[in-house]
Amino acid sequence: MEFEITAEQEHLRRSVREFAEAEIRPHAALWDETQTFPREAIAKAAAMGLLGAIFPEDLGGTGLSYIDYAIIIEELARVDPAVGLIVAAHTSLCTNHIYIAGNDEQKRRYIPRLASGEWLGCWSLTEPEAGSDAAGTRSMAVREDGCWVLNGGKTFTTNAHDALVCVAMAVTDRAASNRGISAFIIETGWPGYKLGRKENKLGMRASSTGEVLFADCRLPESQLLGRAGEGFVDSLRVLDGGRISIAALAVGTAQGAYEAALKYSQHRKQFGRFISEFQAIQHKLVDMATSIDAARLLVFRAAWLKDRGRRVTKESAMAKLFASEMAVRVCDDALQIHGGYGFIKDYPVEKFYRDVKLCTIGEGTSEIQRLVIARQLLKTRDGT
Ligand SMILES: Cc1cc2nc3c(=O)[nH]c(=O)nc-3n(C[C@H](O)[C@H](O)[C@H](O)COP(=O)(O)OP(=O)(O)OC[C@H]3O[C@@H](n4cnc5c(N)ncnc54)[C@H](O)[C@@H]3O)c2cc1C
Repeated sequence: MEFEITAEQEHLRRSVREFAEAEIRPHAALWDETQTFPREAIAKAAAMGLLGAIFPEDLGGTGLSYIDYAIIIEELARVDPAVGLIVAAHTSLCTNHIYIAGNDEQKRRYIPRLASGEWLGCWSLTEPEAGSDAAGTRSMAVREDGCWVLNGGKTFTTNAHDALVCVAMAVTDRAASNRGISAFIIETGWPGYKLGRKENKLGMRASSTGEVLFADCRLPESQLLGRAGEGFVDSLRVLDGGRISIAALAVGTAQGAYEAALKYSQHRKQFGRFISEFQAIQHKLVDMATSIDAARLLVFRAAWLKDRGRRVTKESAMAKLFASEMAVRVCDDALQIHGGYGFIKDYPVEKFYRDVKLCTIGEGTSEIQRLVIARQLLKTRDGT
């Protein structure tokens, strides 16, 4: 068993950290305040290969591992969780769905453009009436004159208002229940593809979240992604990988908040002493650092297994559940250590505190992670 990351991974961590400090940190508060998509920073991240990390080089990707990818997302989130979310939704949801379910032609058309950042991707599963119960999808796709015609609408799609490619799930056979849901690749300029409202959010405000609407949206037959009726099952596979990135996002967010609190505690004096000298503050810092470490290990375990081609349904859900709930607690403690100043936007913990909550909701709520894990545990005799 090896608990150290490699020299290459350390180098990757350093270069993503330097990039995030130089290109993201100076602007993060303004992007958040104004809900501005960080177009330039995303273009620079793309130039570094960060938008195609897990895809092979012959498809224009960077050819890195899931552990590398987790490091990238963690380092982006440490500075601005919204940027981590943009990259995660683009990579492990949209592009990865095309990678795992696409045919050669689809992979050759879309993956190089997505991996290079020329096109940004989004992934639309959730609907107003189908959130946790995604099998309740109502959007319909009907075959007509050699085309698929989509009608319906999606909600809460990350990157919706900035994407050029959307992977969306729609019902193709109502009678077949979740085996009647199919996935489609849509280029967002095509007729009948419309954007609805852009949400005004608590956190993650630099990433756009919004509605995607289909009004007689006609797609060539070739835009069916994977086999008809397999879109829901493929989505679950996509989420197995995606949850590793949300877990890494949570670890990075917690790390950013923890570092801010540590620094603040060593500068702020009360009762004539630095507050870091009070045992109550030290214990908070200790619990924060320890739980971040534990979550990171769960993320790396899930990523390591994924890199070896293993099914990670349980491990990625465990990493996501533990890391996101840990990160919410750490951001709360980080704000508490700042006292009243933590409540003020001049300090970064106020934003971490808002951003982090998405981690217990996106790609399946904590309740749904527990449900997924329970199903896996109950399959075995000894509950391992
Ligand atoms: C900022 C943001 C970005 C997002 N990005 C995307 C995206 O890119 N693509 C996409 O498809 N979706 C995206 N989502 C949607 C997200 O995945 C859903 O919000 C989430 O799955 C929950 O669905 P819901 O909001 O409809 O809540 P609901 O499903 O209505 O849940 C409400 C509450 O009931 C609980 N609950 C529901 N069912 C059960 C159950 N069986 N047992 C116990 N508790 C239960 C939930 O845990 C929750 O606490 C995003 C959401 C947000 C907020």
